[in-house]
Amino acid sequence: MKYVGAHVSASGGVDNAPLNAQAINARAFALFTKNQRQWVAKPLSEKNITAFKANLDKAGIKAEHVLPHDSYLINLGHPEKEPLEKSRNAFLDEMQRCQQLGLRLLNFHPGSHLNKISEDESLDIVAESINIALDQTDSVIAVIENTAGQGTNLGYTFEHLAHIINKVDDKSRVGVCLDTCHSFTAGYDLRTAEACEETFTKFEQIVGFNYLRGMHLNDSKPDLGARVDRHESIGKGKIGLECFHYIMNDARFDDIPMVLETINPDIWDKEIALLYSMVDG
Ligand SMILES: [Zn+2]
Ligand SMILES: [Zn+2]
Repeated sequence: MKYVGAHVSASGGVDNAPLNAQAINARAFALFTKNQRQWVAKPLSEKNITAFKANLDKAGIKAEHVLPHDSYLINLGHPEKEPLEKSRNAFLDEMQRCQQLGLRLLNFHPGSHLNKISEDESLDIVAESINIALDQTDSVIAVIENTAGQGTNLGYTFEHLAHIINKVDDKSRVGVCLDTCHSFTAGYDLRTAEACEETFTKFEQIVGFNYLRGMHLNDSKPDLGARVDRHESIGKGKIGLECFHYIMNDARFDDIPMVLETINPDIWDKEIALLYSMVDG
Protein backbone atom coordinates (compact mmCIF):
# COMPACT_ATOMS: atom_id res chain seq x y z
CA MET A 1 0.00 0.00 0.00
CA LYS A 2 1.27 3.44 -0.92
CA TYR A 3 0.85 6.46 1.36
CA VAL A 4 1.15 9.68 -0.62
CA GLY A 5 0.66 13.22 0.63
CA ALA A 6 2.35 16.62 0.74
CA HIS A 7 4.22 18.94 3.08
CA VAL A 8 1.18 20.86 4.30
CA SER A 9 0.90 24.11 6.20
CA ALA A 10 0.70 24.11 9.99
CA SER A 11 0.06 27.81 10.23
CA GLY A 12 -2.38 28.68 12.96
CA GLY A 13 -1.29 25.57 14.89
CA VAL A 14 0.02 22.06 14.28
CA ASP A 15 -3.53 20.72 14.63
CA ASN A 16 -4.41 22.35 11.28
CA ALA A 17 -1.95 20.18 9.37
CA PRO A 18 -3.99 16.91 9.38
CA LEU A 19 -7.04 18.83 8.12
CA ASN A 20 -4.98 20.47 5.37
CA ALA A 21 -3.81 16.99 4.39
CA GLN A 22 -7.35 15.62 4.39
CA ALA A 23 -8.48 18.46 2.12
CA ILE A 24 -6.14 17.26 -0.65
CA ASN A 25 -6.97 13.54 -0.15
CA ALA A 26 -3.55 12.84 1.30
CA ARG A 27 -2.86 9.54 3.09
CA ALA A 28 0.42 10.86 4.52
CA PHE A 29 1.89 14.30 5.15
CA ALA A 30 4.84 16.34 6.36
CA LEU A 31 4.77 19.45 8.54
CA PHE A 32 6.96 21.78 10.53
CA THR A 33 6.08 21.47 14.24
CA LYS A 34 7.46 25.00 14.77
CA ASN A 35 8.39 27.96 12.58
CA GLN A 36 11.18 26.55 10.42
CA ARG A 37 13.03 29.87 10.16
CA GLN A 38 13.26 30.62 13.88
CA TRP A 39 15.44 29.10 16.58
CA VAL A 40 12.99 29.20 19.44
CA ALA A 41 9.31 28.42 19.55
CA LYS A 42 6.89 28.26 22.39
CA PRO A 43 6.24 24.74 23.64
CA LEU A 44 3.25 22.85 22.27
CA SER A 45 0.25 23.23 24.56
CA GLU A 46 -1.84 20.32 25.81
CA LYS A 47 -4.66 21.79 23.74
CA ASN A 48 -2.53 21.75 20.54
CA ILE A 49 -1.44 18.18 21.18
CA THR A 50 -4.95 16.86 21.88
CA ALA A 51 -6.38 18.67 18.86
CA PHE A 52 -3.57 17.38 16.62
CA LYS A 53 -4.25 13.78 17.60
CA ALA A 54 -8.02 14.21 17.21
CA ASN A 55 -7.61 15.75 13.75
CA LEU A 56 -5.19 13.02 12.69
CA ASP A 57 -7.91 10.51 13.60
CA LYS A 58 -10.53 12.53 11.78
CA ALA A 59 -8.33 12.62 8.66
CA GLY A 60 -7.85 8.84 8.87
CA ILE A 61 -4.06 9.22 8.77
CA LYS A 62 -1.81 7.09 10.97
CA ALA A 63 0.96 8.66 13.05
CA GLU A 64 3.53 6.47 11.26
CA HIS A 65 2.62 8.16 7.97
CA VAL A 66 3.47 11.62 9.24
CA LEU A 67 7.00 12.79 8.42
CA PRO A 68 7.78 16.03 10.31
CA HIS A 69 10.65 18.13 8.93
CA ASP A 70 13.02 20.03 11.22
CA SER A 71 14.10 23.68 10.98
CA TYR A 72 16.36 24.79 8.13
CA LEU A 73 18.61 26.59 10.63
CA ILE A 74 19.87 23.41 12.28
CA ASN A 75 23.34 22.15 11.23
CA LEU A 76 24.17 18.93 13.07
CA GLY A 77 27.56 18.73 11.38
CA HIS A 78 28.65 22.26 12.29
CA PRO A 79 32.44 22.58 12.61
CA GLU A 80 32.29 25.06 15.51
CA LYS A 81 31.41 24.30 19.10
CA GLU A 82 28.88 26.99 19.97
CA PRO A 83 26.70 26.89 16.85
CA LEU A 84 26.87 23.07 17.01
CA GLU A 85 25.57 23.18 20.57
CA LYS A 86 22.75 25.49 19.48
CA SER A 87 21.81 23.11 16.65
CA ARG A 88 21.90 20.08 18.91
CA ASN A 89 19.60 21.75 21.44
CA ALA A 90 17.16 22.83 18.74
CA PHE A 91 17.18 19.32 17.27
CA LEU A 92 16.44 17.78 20.65
CA ASP A 93 13.52 20.19 21.02
CA GLU A 94 12.21 19.07 17.62
CA MET A 95 12.51 15.40 18.62
CA GLN A 96 10.63 16.09 21.83
CA ARG A 97 7.86 17.91 19.99
CA CYS A 98 7.40 14.91 17.69
CA GLN A 99 7.28 12.62 20.70
CA GLN A 100 4.62 14.82 22.34
CA LEU A 101 2.52 14.64 19.18
CA GLY A 102 2.74 10.85 19.19
CA LEU A 103 4.82 10.85 15.98
CA ARG A 104 7.58 8.37 15.19
CA LEU A 105 9.76 10.12 12.63
CA LEU A 106 11.77 13.33 12.31
CA ASN A 107 13.21 14.19 8.91
CA PHE A 108 16.28 16.45 8.68
CA HIS A 109 19.07 17.45 6.32
CA PRO A 110 22.37 16.08 7.67
CA GLY A 111 24.34 19.37 7.79
CA SER A 112 27.13 21.38 6.20
CA HIS A 113 30.90 21.38 6.69
CA LEU A 114 31.15 25.08 5.71
CA ASN A 115 34.60 24.44 4.20
CA LYS A 116 36.13 24.45 7.69
CA ILE A 117 36.57 20.70 8.13
CA SER A 118 36.47 17.69 5.80
CA GLU A 119 33.26 15.98 4.75
CA ASP A 120 34.18 12.88 6.76
CA GLU A 121 34.86 14.89 9.91
CA SER A 122 31.55 16.71 9.53
CA LEU A 123 29.69 13.43 8.92
CA ASP A 124 31.19 12.08 12.17
CA ILE A 125 29.83 15.14 13.99
CA VAL A 126 26.37 14.54 12.49
CA ALA A 127 26.41 10.94 13.77
CA GLU A 128 27.48 12.12 17.23
CA SER A 129 24.67 14.71 17.19
CA ILE A 130 22.15 11.95 16.40
CA ASN A 131 23.52 9.75 19.19
CA ILE A 132 23.11 12.60 21.68
CA ALA A 133 19.50 13.24 20.61
CA LEU A 134 18.56 9.54 20.65
CA ASP A 135 20.01 9.19 24.16
CA GLN A 136 17.69 11.88 25.45
CA THR A 137 14.49 10.68 23.78
CA ASP A 138 12.91 7.28 23.63
CA SER A 139 10.86 6.69 20.52
CA VAL A 140 11.43 9.05 17.61
CA ILE A 141 13.51 7.83 14.65
CA ALA A 142 16.07 10.26 13.18
CA VAL A 143 15.42 10.24 9.43
CA ILE A 144 18.35 11.61 7.39
CA GLU A 145 17.37 13.16 4.07
CA ASN A 146 19.66 12.92 1.07
CA THR A 147 20.49 16.32 -0.40
CA ALA A 148 21.27 17.89 -3.77
CA GLY A 149 24.77 18.72 -2.53
CA GLN A 150 24.37 22.44 -2.96
CA GLY A 151 27.20 24.51 -1.44
CA THR A 152 28.86 22.61 1.41
CA ASN A 153 25.83 20.45 2.23
CA LEU A 154 26.55 16.87 3.18
CA GLY A 155 24.33 13.92 2.28
CA TYR A 156 24.45 14.04 -1.53
CA THR A 157 25.83 10.53 -1.90
CA PHE A 158 24.45 7.25 -0.57
CA GLU A 159 27.91 6.74 0.96
CA HIS A 160 27.38 9.84 3.12
CA LEU A 161 24.12 8.37 4.45
CA ALA A 162 25.82 5.02 5.13
CA HIS A 163 28.73 6.77 6.86
CA ILE A 164 26.38 8.44 9.33
CA ILE A 165 24.25 5.32 9.94
CA ASN A 166 27.42 3.31 10.60
CA LYS A 167 28.36 5.58 13.46
CA VAL A 168 24.91 5.77 15.05
CA ASP A 169 24.72 3.46 18.07
CA ASP A 170 21.03 2.57 17.96
CA LYS A 171 20.42 1.40 14.39
CA SER A 172 16.72 0.85 15.12
CA ARG A 173 16.23 4.60 15.51
CA VAL A 174 18.00 5.92 12.43
CA GLY A 175 16.65 5.90 8.88
CA VAL A 176 16.71 7.80 5.63
CA CYS A 177 14.36 9.76 3.43
CA LEU A 178 15.15 9.85 -0.28
CA ASP A 179 14.16 12.98 -2.15
CA THR A 180 13.82 12.23 -5.88
CA CYS A 181 14.82 15.79 -6.90
CA HIS A 182 17.86 15.77 -4.60
CA SER A 183 18.93 12.30 -5.80
CA PHE A 184 18.67 13.40 -9.42
CA THR A 185 20.49 16.71 -9.10
CA ALA A 186 23.15 14.96 -6.99
CA GLY A 187 23.82 12.78 -10.03
CA TYR A 188 21.62 9.68 -9.62
CA ASP A 189 19.61 9.25 -12.82
CA LEU A 190 15.89 8.52 -12.44
CA ARG A 191 14.57 9.38 -15.90
CA THR A 192 13.73 5.84 -17.04
CA ALA A 193 12.70 2.61 -15.35
CA GLU A 194 16.17 1.23 -16.15
CA ALA A 195 17.85 4.27 -14.57
CA CYS A 196 15.62 3.93 -11.49
CA GLU A 197 16.51 0.25 -11.22
CA GLU A 198 20.20 1.11 -11.32
CA THR A 199 19.95 3.97 -8.83
CA PHE A 200 17.85 2.02 -6.32
CA THR A 201 20.10 -1.04 -6.66
CA LYS A 202 22.98 1.23 -5.66
CA PHE A 203 20.90 2.49 -2.74
CA GLU A 204 20.16 -1.09 -1.67
CA GLN A 205 23.86 -2.02 -1.82
CA ILE A 206 25.21 1.06 -0.06
CA VAL A 207 22.46 1.94 2.46
CA GLY A 208 19.72 -0.72 2.30
CA PHE A 209 15.96 -0.43 1.91
CA ASN A 210 15.56 -1.56 5.53
CA TYR A 211 16.59 2.02 6.44
CA LEU A 212 14.14 3.72 4.07
CA ARG A 213 11.57 5.52 6.23
CA GLY A 214 10.16 8.04 3.79
CA MET A 215 10.30 9.58 0.34
CA HIS A 216 10.03 13.13 -0.96
CA LEU A 217 8.42 12.98 -4.38
CA ASN A 218 9.58 15.98 -6.39
CA ASP A 219 10.38 16.56 -10.02
CA SER A 220 13.48 18.67 -10.69
CA LYS A 221 14.05 22.01 -12.40
CA PRO A 222 17.83 21.54 -12.72
CA ASP A 223 19.50 18.85 -14.83
CA LEU A 224 21.06 15.59 -13.71
CA GLY A 225 24.08 16.28 -11.51
CA ALA A 226 23.55 20.06 -11.32
CA ARG A 227 23.93 19.96 -7.50
CA VAL A 228 21.18 22.59 -7.19
CA ASP A 229 18.01 22.12 -5.11
CA ARG A 230 15.00 23.37 -7.09
CA HIS A 231 11.81 21.34 -7.07
CA GLU A 232 9.26 21.13 -9.89
CA SER A 233 5.71 19.75 -10.15
CA ILE A 234 5.42 16.03 -10.95
CA GLY A 235 5.97 15.37 -14.65
CA LYS A 236 6.89 18.97 -15.43
CA GLY A 237 10.62 18.80 -14.71
CA LYS A 238 13.77 17.04 -15.90
CA ILE A 239 12.92 13.73 -14.20
CA GLY A 240 9.54 13.14 -15.84
CA LEU A 241 6.67 10.75 -15.14
CA GLU A 242 8.34 7.36 -15.65
CA CYS A 243 10.22 7.59 -12.34
CA PHE A 244 7.03 8.17 -10.38
CA HIS A 245 5.28 5.32 -12.20
CA TYR A 246 8.22 3.10 -11.23
CA ILE A 247 8.06 4.12 -7.56
CA MET A 248 4.27 3.76 -7.33
CA ASN A 249 4.55 0.16 -8.58
CA ASP A 250 7.56 -1.00 -6.56
CA ALA A 251 6.80 -2.74 -3.24
CA ARG A 252 10.04 -1.43 -1.71
CA PHE A 253 8.22 1.89 -1.33
CA ASP A 254 5.16 0.41 0.41
CA ASP A 255 3.92 1.58 3.80
CA ILE A 256 6.16 4.65 4.18
CA PRO A 257 5.13 8.31 3.95
CA MET A 258 5.76 9.70 0.44
CA VAL A 259 5.54 13.45 0.50
CA LEU A 260 5.23 16.03 -2.28
CA GLU A 261 7.26 19.22 -1.82
CA THR A 262 6.44 20.38 -5.32
CA ILE A 263 6.23 24.06 -6.09
CA ASN A 264 2.50 24.55 -6.68
CA PRO A 265 0.37 23.64 -3.63
CA ASP A 266 -2.79 24.45 -5.64
CA ILE A 267 -2.36 21.25 -7.65
CA TRP A 268 -1.25 18.89 -4.84
CA ASP A 269 -4.67 17.19 -4.87
CA LYS A 270 -4.28 16.56 -8.61
CA GLU A 271 -0.68 15.35 -8.21
CA ILE A 272 -1.76 12.91 -5.49
CA ALA A 273 -4.59 11.63 -7.69
CA LEU A 274 -2.17 11.35 -10.63
CA LEU A 275 0.30 9.29 -8.57
CA TYR A 276 -2.42 6.89 -7.40
CA SER A 277 -3.71 6.59 -10.97
CA MET A 278 -0.28 5.25 -11.96
CA VAL A 279 -0.63 2.13 -9.82
CA ASP A 280 -1.00 -0.78 -12.27
CA GLY A 281 -3.73 -3.37 -11.98
ZN1 LIG B 1 12.98 17.01 0.51
ZN1 LIG C 1 14.80 20.19 -1.80
